[in-house]
Amino acid sequence: MSNKPGALYVVATPIGNLEDMSPRALRVLSEADLVAAEDTRHSATLLRHFGIARPVVAVHEHNERMKVHELLRKLSAGQSIALISDAGTPLISDPGFNLVRAALAGGIPVVPIPGPCAAIAALSASGLPSDRFTFEGFPPAKATARRAKFEDLRADPRTLIFYESAHRIAESLEDMAAVFGRDRASVLARELTKQFETLRSTALGELSDWVRSDPNQQRGEMVVLVHGASQEAAQQVDAHADKVLRVLLAALPLKQAAALAAQITGVKKNLLYSHGLGLAESSGPRSAGRDHKE
Ligand code: SAM
Repeated sequence: MSNKPGALYVVATPIGNLEDMSPRALRVLSEADLVAAEDTRHSATLLRHFGIARPVVAVHEHNERMKVHELLRKLSAGQSIALISDAGTPLISDPGFNLVRAALAGGIPVVPIPGPCAAIAALSASGLPSDRFTFEGFPPAKATARRAKFEDLRADPRTLIFYESAHRIAESLEDMAAVFGRDRASVLARELTKQFETLRSTALGELSDWVRSDPNQQRGEMVVLVHGASQEAAQQVDAHADKVLRVLLAALPLKQAAALAAQITGVKKNLLYSHGLGLAESSGPRSAGRDHKE
């Protein structure tokens, strides 16, 4: 088979180990009229390694929208273009979405050339449920937004998959442990397919402590996987719900505070009510805003 004229090929490339380059990806790249790469210098090394000498154009997050028209013109004129990113599958936390959308809208065939993807590789060896999962990409960099994002996912029953950078992994894991609970099963998949490949499977609290205490675990590239919420966990009073309830209890009787906190947090009213009773018992009947008329 040879490349179809006027087709856009979305080509996955290795995430570390060059043996993962597929023969089909090699053929498509070596036959492409043009290679659209996230970083031309980075991809030049890959292409040189495989003896592929094709023209390369840069398509990255800053110029993708501008480049789309130029590439569509070439595709319409019958050129075959291979889109690659720095590593793994293009569009997966990588550029390419605008180009693929525009190509499809313009009736241009888009052909996937499947291959490595860190999220899927990590999931496949994690031992966590793989029948339902959600890929969440990189968590927000700022702590408040990151915790809010985790809160949104707290009750999600699917396996959660995150990408995270080396310099934020320690704080991100701490936030995960605080929001999802220290007991939640998790896996850190680091440096997949490379020399220091590590898959560590343990409870989130332990994982967070381990990474914090060992700078070597804060190096390289990593995927974090978190077990989905059990029905029980989804109904626990977490730190956020606890805080909301405490604030409301300062001004309202327990019954009302629990009802409002349930609306705000999605946690069951009766759970919040009994949690509030516990707060009242531990801090004295008045300070927890207990309504003695109930
Ligand atoms: N498109 C890529 C893919 O298909 O996996 C992902 C690109 S994204 C910009 C880069 C992130 O993917 C890294 O920060 C890391 O979270 C994850 N990643 C990439 N290579 C990895 C590897 N060898 N081991 C673990 N995680 C990796």
